[in-house]
Amino acid sequence: MPRIYLSAPHMSGLEREFVDEAFRSNWLTTLGPNVEGFEREFEALVGRPAVALASGTAALHLALRLAGVGPRDRVLCPTFTFVASANPVRYLGAEPVFLDSERGSWNLDPEALASALAELGGVGRPRALVVVHLFGQTADMDPILELCARHGVAVIEDAAEALGADYRGRPAGTLGDYGVYSFNGNKIITTTGGGMLVARERAAIDRARFWSQQARDPGVAYEHSELGYNYRMSNVLAGIGRGQLRVLADRVAARRAIAFRYRDALADLGGLELMPQAPWGLHTNWLSCFLVDEPALGCTRDALIQALAAEEIEARPVWKPMHLQPLYAGARRFGGAVAEDLFARGICLPSSSSLTESDQARVVAALRGAVARARGAAA
Ligand SMILES: *Cc1c(COP(=O)(O)O)cnc(C)c1O
Repeated sequence: MPRIYLSAPHMSGLEREFVDEAFRSNWLTTLGPNVEGFEREFEALVGRPAVALASGTAALHLALRLAGVGPRDRVLCPTFTFVASANPVRYLGAEPVFLDSERGSWNLDPEALASALAELGGVGRPRALVVVHLFGQTADMDPILELCARHGVAVIEDAAEALGADYRGRPAGTLGDYGVYSFNGNKIITTTGGGMLVARERAAIDRARFWSQQARDPGVAYEHSELGYNYRMSNVLAGIGRGQLRVLADRVAARRAIAFRYRDALADLGGLELMPQAPWGLHTNWLSCFLVDEPALGCTRDALIQALAAEEIEARPVWKPMHLQPLYAGARRFGGAVAEDLFARGICLPSSSSLTESDQARVVAALRGAVARARGAAA
């Protein structure tokens, strides 16, 4: 039986035209019409100036630098996220401070943010917040933006998992000062690897573009006054991105339909609850995530993952919170234990937009089989 992956790349066919054009014209570098076209088309989609980069992680690194983050600064970040949200804070010599999640969206709890800002206020106040929109759904941005504005804290949105989502009608990634997207191979659209940074001001994007090209000063001599990076996106990969951008709405619709099909096909079991849909915006359901109530289901989360693996189906736990990572042991944190509970009970099911209904029926049958066996063994 062919393996079913968690979140596989899904090409539309349109990508080939742009990639072939890059080959025909020999624009096989980090400059070229596809990079410019991808940026222009992305700007039209989200309504903010944009620069195409080598990864979402690179985009976060540049956003933090634009926000003025430097050695020993504090940067707030939800604990419930992928490690790439926090690592760029360390690249700059700053310290992440981790905040708990709220149950309604699984994202940053505005109350944990309020306590952190109350306690870390004044001269030691955090320089920035990296707010993450996890699994395709935005955090509750109104109270978060209000708190950050009051305390003079820059807001960077990590929308790597939330391209296509919105908050009260505004695209994820365009509510704060800076927004970051990823086109890694597992994301809702992909360039095989890549990222995008957006900002309110075009001047900020021009600055980030300059840093992303080794910060080479104007003029013929290779003169450098500032520290730069090699973070630009290649013209070939930008071509893939242009094709992918044209089918984003279809990909969102497909991922949502998959999540709701799982929910409906598993409802009678009791004990499997789809990640909540917060009332403030469109959830793309980039990944179909469920919480397992083990006593009600009569089966553990880990037994489900193992049973799926035995049938060549990839599933995994939700992200492991940062404060439980050896890398971030000892980091400060605020809030309760919501993220820990989500981590203990959360499962991500195969969510590729290319998943067929018969693939999905295979996943459902494997889950139902695992539950029946566990209940049989307990009876
Ligand atoms: C994927 C991801 C990133 C990093 O993006 P890359 O393009 O892989 O560098 C950052 N944050 C979150 C939440 C992600 O899921």
